[in-house]
Amino acid sequence: MQTGFIYSDELTKNILREDHILRPMRLRLVYELLESYKVFSNKSAEILDPKIATSFELMTFHSRDYIEAVSAFSRGEDLGRQHRYGFSDWGDNPISEGMYEAAALAVGASLTGVDALIDGSIDLAFNAGGGYHHAASDYASGFCIFNDAVIAIQKLLQKGVERIAYIDIDAHHGDGVQNAFYQTNKVMTISIHQSGDTLFPGTGSTDEVGEEAGIGYSINLPMPPNTNDDIYFDAFMKVVPEILKIYDPEILVAQLGIDTHINDPLSQLSLTTQGHNRIVKQIIDLAPGKLLALGGGGYDLSAVARSWALDYATMAGLELPNDVPEKYSLEYGIKTLKDDEITGSNNASIKATVQKTIDTIKENTSKYISQ
Ligand SMILES: [Zn+2]
Repeated sequence: MQTGFIYSDELTKNILREDHILRPMRLRLVYELLESYKVFSNKSAEILDPKIATSFELMTFHSRDYIEAVSAFSRGEDLGRQHRYGFSDWGDNPISEGMYEAAALAVGASLTGVDALIDGSIDLAFNAGGGYHHAASDYASGFCIFNDAVIAIQKLLQKGVERIAYIDIDAHHGDGVQNAFYQTNKVMTISIHQSGDTLFPGTGSTDEVGEEAGIGYSINLPMPPNTNDDIYFDAFMKVVPEILKIYDPEILVAQLGIDTHINDPLSQLSLTTQGHNRIVKQIIDLAPGKLLALGGGGYDLSAVARSWALDYATMAGLELPNDVPEKYSLEYGIKTLKDDEITGSNNASIKATVQKTIDTIKENTSKYISQ
């Protein structure tokens, strides 16, 4: 399998304000970690240079009004109107100079992946600088300005792809992507996330199943706080392979947020880097020969660097030694790719809650989409 890691130094520039918890700089840590393992000297792994998305490409999802507003705010103009579009100085989405170009480049990077998948030069593409799954058509939400996942899927649809499955394993519900395709069966969205009762954006319950032609094609698997590797893996395996078998997608788009990690400061799931990677291995195996992988949330920088390096190596068919090369380890204080195993957290009440959720999803699936 030929793989592309989409990267340039430009992608590591801040999108939101400099002091924001979402730091695109984390991509450099991923890239340098892969470099330290000499991953890119393998034939199966190449670096793809991202190009910036045009306003026409952004308009395949976002309103012209919103795009023009983001452009004005990015130049420091018209700031009095920012609240109308989800921006504020004190909230999740503070304005910064140049944010239009930075956000449009993150979208362009995902479209670079789509182009390489469509022309057949790449089988698996990874834009770790993407996955802005909360952005809506006309407002910013949850650190997300432009929704690269939706725009990438729109482009695949324009190219004639008939069935696209989107799998979102970020700790937060993939609401922006689900909403964009809520009424179509051409895109199946599957989001596994910490339950909306306990985490932003509050949506993503099992009864959000889609509408009209899309009924049954939105699937949500909410998890209780403290869900660990084994419970998460078990739930994934009981739900996702069967649904994909029924749906039979032509291409898979996956958002690989790593804010599910036990050390993440914004959410309360308890995955390790190797637990996350075990899920990503399954996603790669389930992909029908074509996978567009996107980054997403992830606010513990060590977990981000280690997880996405592991994920990309898995895509490229490489097994990296657990001990991080010395130079990198000395520079960043990161010693191993995998975490210590977490033991003794197989909580019976979490298991029971998750099993109920699985049962509900299975009922919905047989009601709406099974033949
Ligand atoms: Zn997230």
